Amino acid sequence: MKNILLLGATGSIGNSVLSVIEQNKDILNLYGIAARNNSAKVKTIIKKFSPNHVYLEDQDAYKSTSELFPNTSFLNTDKDLEDLISSEDVDIVISAIVGFAGLKTSFIAANAGKKILIANKESIVAAGDIFMKLADSKGAEIIPIDSEHNAIFQCLPSNKSTKDVNNIIITASGGPFIGTPISELTEVKPEDALNHPNWEMGSKISIDSATLVNKCLELIEARYLFNLNQKYFDLVIHPQSIVHSVVTYVDGSSIAQLSNPNMEVPIANALGGNQKLPISFKDINFSNLDLNFINFPSDRSSLEELARNICDTGGSSGLVFNAANEIAVEYFLKNQIKFSQIYDVIFRTFELIPLSNPADIETLNELNIEARMEAKKVIKSLS
Ligand code: NAD
Ligand code: MG
Repeated sequence: MKNILLLGATGSIGNSVLSVIEQNKDILNLYGIAARNNSAKVKTIIKKFSPNHVYLEDQDAYKSTSELFPNTSFLNTDKDLEDLISSEDVDIVISAIVGFAGLKTSFIAANAGKKILIANKESIVAAGDIFMKLADSKGAEIIPIDSEHNAIFQCLPSNKSTKDVNNIIITASGGPFIGTPISELTEVKPEDALNHPNWEMGSKISIDSATLVNKCLELIEARYLFNLNQKYFDLVIHPQSIVHSVVTYVDGSSIAQLSNPNMEVPIANALGGNQKLPISFKDINFSNLDLNFINFPSDRSSLEELARNICDTGGSSGLVFNAANEIAVEYFLKNQIKFSQIYDVIFRTFELIPLSNPADIETLNELNIEARMEAKKVIKSLS
């Protein structure tokens, strides 16, 4: 039996993880969960899975929910959360908190040398250099559940060596505005941008998907996860979201991973390790398959270029990119900036902040606050 600690249990990834656990109850146990404040969802999870420990960040949610379950251990302090993540009883930590907020817990898990299934790409983008080094030095195993990265992971040999790789395609669905130039997207509303054609996801990643920033975050994520130069990766639009990545080897063979868009597939792969976990899934209709692959849109080439520069530069560059984007998405979702201004906020904030080489998580946290403040100033200057 594997004990799982699910960070971000009430979100979209959290939901998919719970479904895979439920379908494999004989070998997977939900040992603990962490979430921000969705007590209704937490109640449902407790009733169904009886986790030993429940961390709620929000004080009110913590108080009101803990009163209802006297036999469950409820946690609310940083120290409690750190002890839970580091506990010897935890076999697998799933990092599925959204945004920079997930960095702290990813770091604790890496420091404790845990097996980490990582969905929280923002941790890797903002802190790749330090995070991967820490994980390496502590013997923490990092397994991607982002679908494209899990696909690459599956297409590599069992020792995960990349020495014979020629190039890797990371596919992108293209989001709801596929084929529409930025110049025609000025007036789109959050509800249009949230309406993803293939995937049901949390609001932040749905907007990232609509802007294609998600693919740029994923390029940086891939550069760190597989320790490969960005030049190895091609970003390609694939509207059907069936081929998640293609690894081509130096001998000319291309190995791809396919599935219908369903996050339970990469999650089951990552949770199973050497074992294939059975889940219910929709078959690909191969006799009726129409797959298209289109170049990354040329009006997003400066965005892609920025992401490639970040891969080459490292240091604080990924953190600034991520912070500016998080603020821009937050303000777009509140209807306070236009869709196309998300790009302006990213580029202008990036220009304003001098880059540095943070050495530890405390410095990363300070820089994150600074970058977010700068992004807010940029937003003020737009209106
Ligand atoms: P979501 O918004 O649906 O859920 C976010 C979760 O994080 C919630 O459980 C929330 O309670 C928790 N959370 C937020 N702030 C917190 C805090 N300070 N402390 C504790 N918990 C906190 O997001 P999502 O779509 O599930 O995405 C989660 C992560 O996975 C993101 O980094 C995203 O980029 C990545 N990802 C998501 C998908 C997807 O299909 N949804 C695919 C690939 C990668
Ligand atoms: Mg992805």
